[in-house]
Amino acid sequence: MVASKDMKLFLSVDLEGVTGVNAWEDVRKGTADHDYFRRQMTKEVLVICETALSKGATEVLVKDAHATARNLLMDELPRGVKLFSGWARDPYVMMSGLDKSFSAVMFSGYHSGAFFADSPLAHTMSSENVFYFKINDQYASEFVLNSYIAAYHGVPVIGIVGDEGICRQAREYIPNIVTMPVKKGEGNGVISLGRDEALDLIRRGAEKALSMDFSQCKLELPKHFRCELCFRNHVLAHRASFYPGVKLLNPHTVLWETDDFYEVLRTYFFI
Ligand SMILES: [Zn+2]
Repeated sequence: MVASKDMKLFLSVDLEGVTGVNAWEDVRKGTADHDYFRRQMTKEVLVICETALSKGATEVLVKDAHATARNLLMDELPRGVKLFSGWARDPYVMMSGLDKSFSAVMFSGYHSGAFFADSPLAHTMSSENVFYFKINDQYASEFVLNSYIAAYHGVPVIGIVGDEGICRQAREYIPNIVTMPVKKGEGNGVISLGRDEALDLIRRGAEKALSMDFSQCKLELPKHFRCELCFRNHVLAHRASFYPGVKLLNPHTVLWETDDFYEVLRTYFFI
């Protein structure tokens, strides 16, 4: 489907993958670094929103999906854009607000997942507690989890802005997705595009993504899910093992299996 008068875009936004972000202080609210990078985060979102609106989007719903979920600066967002700030406390987490009525999903500020070396801030959902999360034996980043949520609602995922590692993984799952890599992890450091080059890249990428036939970017949900969650602390695995359907695989790791993707989310949410 090419952008039409009914086009609705859902944009889930994180902060660790924003241009220039390279340390935890950069993403912790209340620091001078966070004050700076939330502006860059907002600028990157604004470019995507402006492009979507110029392509005829009737609605853009932006989900602020980092930490407090209160990072984006509403002042900067144009008419036609709704901002979902704060956490709904439902199992959709970073994708709350998405439903079947949306035409496409995009991600910005996304970052490499736990057990990848492509960002000093690589993690999946909880940097503190989760050592890794696997679905069907593949390390599942927030991109993977959230793209499956989009697939669960039948909505294609057309574009992603973030570090090179997460862009590479995105292409493995959705070969036609438009990737906008704004930086590259190098050990504990990050090599970023300049601010203006990053915004140009995002504008060009969003333009391309929103002009595509979105159905090329549909991800198929697996028929069966084997989920392994490895905690940094064995006590958390012990605790999680008492949730219905969850068993202890080893002292740090729990396992659950289901054919229903919603049960992947529900279990992850409660353990
Ligand atoms: Zn985050």
